[in-house]
Amino acid sequence: MTLIAGASPLLDRLRAVLPADRIATGSTEVAALTRDQSWLSPALAEARKQREATEGAKLGVLAAVAPRSVEELAAVVAIAAGERTPITLRGAGTSNFGLIDPSAGGLLLDLRRLTGEITVGDGFIRAPGGTILLDLERAARQHGAEVPILTTTYASATVAGWVAGGHVGLGSSNHGAVWDGIVRQVRLLTVEENPRILTLTGAEAEPVFHTFGVTGIVIEVELATAPLRRWLEVVGNFPDFGRASAFTTAISRDPRFAHRVVAAQEEEARNGLRALAPAIGTGASVLAILDGDQFDAADALAGQHGGALTPWQPWLLDGGEKPSIATLVYGHRMYWVKRLYPDASFLHIYPDPHVPDRDLTALKRQFGHALLIENKYIRSPWMARALGFTGVETLPAAVVAVRAQPGLAALIEHCDRAGIPYQNPHTHRIEDNGLFGDVAAIVELKAQGDPHDLIHRGRLAGARREP
Ligand SMILES: Cc1cc2nc3c(=O)[nH]c(=O)nc-3n(C[C@H](O)[C@H](O)[C@H](O)COP(=O)(O)OP(=O)(O)OC[C@H]3O[C@@H](n4cnc5c(N)ncnc54)[C@H](O)[C@@H]3O)c2cc1C
Repeated sequence: MTLIAGASPLLDRLRAVLPADRIATGSTEVAALTRDQSWLSPALAEARKQREATEGAKLGVLAAVAPRSVEELAAVVAIAAGERTPITLRGAGTSNFGLIDPSAGGLLLDLRRLTGEITVGDGFIRAPGGTILLDLERAARQHGAEVPILTTTYASATVAGWVAGGHVGLGSSNHGAVWDGIVRQVRLLTVEENPRILTLTGAEAEPVFHTFGVTGIVIEVELATAPLRRWLEVVGNFPDFGRASAFTTAISRDPRFAHRVVAAQEEEARNGLRALAPAIGTGASVLAILDGDQFDAADALAGQHGGALTPWQPWLLDGGEKPSIATLVYGHRMYWVKRLYPDASFLHIYPDPHVPDRDLTALKRQFGHALLIENKYIRSPWMARALGFTGVETLPAAVVAVRAQPGLAALIEHCDRAGIPYQNPHTHRIEDNGLFGDVAAIVELKAQGDPHDLIHRGRLAGARREP
């Protein structure tokens, strides 16, 4: 369908307040903006295909709007709220949970141009929501500091997209998840006829985290910073996965070690790690980014578990001479696993921190070669509480890839039976995600930030809706 002036009162009103280049209605352009990396989930890819067959490539979206300032954004929001037009929010579109699939047509807001000054102070960094994380980290490093957690998509992801859509990343092994005090303040623009700015400090901002933007539009984020370290990418080789995993457990739980990631990979992963061929041995491996000054101590610990560590290269923001380990772990592991097993689905699982090997071994016994495990740890008191683990702060956070046969449903069934909590990235509903037992605070903030339930309608099933 081609839209012309006068064909839609909503578009006419938008065109009256915004320069023409902020509004896109073409099918190809709008459809492209509704896509992210959700093809990584076979379930979400199939659901999208079926929707496109009935609703068309734009999934009912009338237009994509890309405001260049908070003032422009507020003008769009006021019109959308007045017309009760559903809204989909989009950052860089790097997420992989179907997060920017428009759920109810209306407008898609492309928020990447909400950029501007970055402020670095003692222990914090503050920036507009559309700021790319790489730019944020560069600014921090110029002041001898660093962002404690970086999603592996930091080269293109926005800070608002991470706070609203992500939750962990490089650094979580030491600093936890988005809920663990990393985010000091968030400013939200409300979706109302007269949009307001809500300033949420500390725990007040919690309902914004990983709830996909449903509580309001993030226009500014202030993160805590940590002192800058000299990071070294490292490959570890171990005779088998059990010992690689035991080393990962030991170094992750020892508070003397500083790391951005320590991730144990199974023997079968070798074929997917060709980028590291000169350093990868014949057994299981550990991919790590460690404080370079602690390499010798870490290598000695590896030796106690029958393994050895090899320095790969310094971790540089703009990439080193060789492929970076930063782009082979966390979410980026999905890319090389998909090359090995194109039919794989992924699940974040949280084995019992008191007996992690018991849960992982039982999984492997049940699924054999149809399952590929990465075991790593995150030091997250918030997630420990949310998942019901007591007496621990450092949790095993394994990512499991399962092939189409026996499939994701069989894996989830196994976890349910064995009592292993998981985070389900193959669902659109916040209530089904697995991390939010009680959504009352999220519902409450949504009632303030989006009282007409226009953002991602349906994602928060319990949302209240003012007429
Ligand atoms: C290969 C790969 C690796 C990944 N690795 C990690 C990882 O290590 N850690 C991790 O946490 N995630 C990871 N992700 C997921 C994703 O890349 C990150 O969470 C990223 O930070 C999302 O940022 P974005 O700008 O691309 O947001 P988008 O994908 O555009 O949006 C994400 C969510 O945030 C909402 N949103 C965007 N902007 C705003 C705003 N201004 N206000 C309110 N809501 C908004 C969107 O509606 C959506 O629900 C990975 C994904 C892939 C494909």
